[in-house]
Order: sequence, then structure tokens, then C-alpha cells
Amino acid sequence: MLIKPHLRDFVSLFFPPACAGCGAVLGKGEPVICVACAYHLPYTHFHKDPANRGARQLWGRVPLEGVTAYLYFYEPSRVQNIVHLLKYRNRPDIGVAMGRKYGEVLCGTAPYSKADCIIPVPLHPRKLRRRGYNQSASFGQGLSVTMQKPLIENGLRQCRPTKSQTRKGRYQRFENSRKVFEVTDPELLSGKHILLVDDVLTTGATVEACAAALLADPTVRVSVVTLAHAL
Ligand SMILES: [Zn+2]
Repeated sequence: MLIKPHLRDFVSLFFPPACAGCGAVLGKGEPVICVACAYHLPYTHFHKDPANRGARQLWGRVPLEGVTAYLYFYEPSRVQNIVHLLKYRNRPDIGVAMGRKYGEVLCGTAPYSKADCIIPVPLHPRKLRRRGYNQSASFGQGLSVTMQKPLIENGLRQCRPTKSQTRKGRYQRFENSRKVFEVTDPELLSGKHILLVDDVLTTGATVEACAAALLADPTVRVSVVTLAHAL
């Protein structure tokens, strides 16, 4: 919905925008997170360290150019609030804002700065209909703006919903999710270096399965960028 600026000011008198990290009322010019949160968020700085713990987590599982995450995720925390609002409270704008900020950092750092395009981890169509947006695509959209790389929102598709995998071992989990993702248009991605984007890196099984689908073409290279990394 388009709201004229003066009307937006009027509306925010009654519903003042709140910081996605701590809930404090935002001042004018503070987009999505307040100055204090922007200062105190637990930044990983993974992009400066090719052997970071996210990358090490995926070593030997799938060959990647780089793996990085913007923030550490732990509970309870400002990052947990941010991710919760992004995923469950109809706030795709938070993903876009965080993506823009991290894109400013990554556009000066190889291998991420050298990538050709951005593809988000897809949601199953049923889940996408329910939520109304793909939170990873929102994050990718923000990255796309500041890194000036095209976002291919439907570059991958999910063919069936992932079942609860908590009781399975890592290999079984991988086997179970491996066949779920498909490249929509393999010709389009031939020879490309792709930034694969997700919200939170936990076991790495989803990212691994998506990367494996993309890397079925030997001319493709993949780097992984997530909003957060769960400890
Ligand atoms: Zn805050």
C-alpha cells in the first residue's frame, strides 16, 4: 500500500515504528533497527575469514567459493527478534534492510563481490502462499540493491516439503533433503558464480542440498550468504 509522506507521519503518531532488534521507538532516519542495536548486534565478520566456522561446517560436504553470515543467532537476543519478525510477523522489509546493510559490506569483499547473481533458498509453494513472501528472497533483494547484482528469485524450486528431520543423523538428513531442490532454468545459470542466500544457517543441510542442485552443472560456482549463523 502506498502512503503519502504526511499521512505516514500521521499514522506513525499512533503506531510509531519500533526497532526490530529491541522494540524501542525508532527516530526519523532510523530504518528498521535503532542506532544502539546497529552498534551492538553480534556481527560475525565471517567474510574476512575464509576458514570461519560457517565455512568449516560445510567443508567436505559441498565445494563452495565462500560461506559467510552477517550475524550470530542465539536465544534470546536482538537477532532472534529480527529473525522472528522477518519470518513470522509479515516483515519482509526487515530482510531487505538487513540485506542492504550486509551488501554494503560484501561488495568490497571477494569472492562475494565477484558473484554474478543471487538466488534465495526457495520455500515450498504451500508455505510461500501461507507466508506471502520468501524471507530469504527479501534478504537477497536487499543484497541485490547494494551489491548491484540481479536477484533470480525463482532460480531454485522446492519440489516437496521437507519433513521434520530432527531425529535423523546428518547423512540421512542430507539424503532426505538432497532431491528436494531443482534448478528452474539450468541454461540461464551456466558458467555463473551464484550467491546462494538463506535466513539462518543451522545444520547446513538445506544450503548443502541447494548448492548440490546448482553444482550439478560443473561450470557453476556457489558462495553462501546467510543473515545469521546459529551457534
Ligand atoms: Zn534497537
